[in-house]
Amino acid sequence: MKKIIVLIVLMFLCFSGNAAETVLTEQNRAKRAEQPYKYLGEYTIFAYCPCVACCGKSDHFTASGKMAVEGVTVACDMEFGTELTIEGVGERIVQDRGGAIYGKCIDMFMESHKEALKFGVRKVKVWEKE
Ligand SMILES: [Zn+2]
Repeated sequence: MKKIIVLIVLMFLCFSGNAAETVLTEQNRAKRAEQPYKYLGEYTIFAYCPCVACCGKSDHFTASGKMAVEGVTVACDMEFGTELTIEGVGERIVQDRGGAIYGKCIDMFMESHKEALKFGVRKVKVWEKE
């Protein structure tokens, strides 16, 4: 009789173990669906404008050949066209390069030099759209 009880307990443990695993997998799947982004880590973000002080030139052309657009363009050392989600900022696309912008740095394009200065330097979490 004891053996049967042990067997039942074992079966129960195995079953509940599997059930827990199934729930966990489903949670992971739900999480992935909510967030189809790859977390890249914390980045230091600055802002720049198309003025001579920020760029050494004053046209709107980025290193990728596209016109810089506020609310779209960021510069960093990732591949052009990479779509990023930046904490507290929103979605941006990598379209530019900067001499001092490498590693965990992002430079965000803004139309106004004043606004760019006001933005300052921030530490933000960054995700890449996959
Ligand atoms: Zn500027």
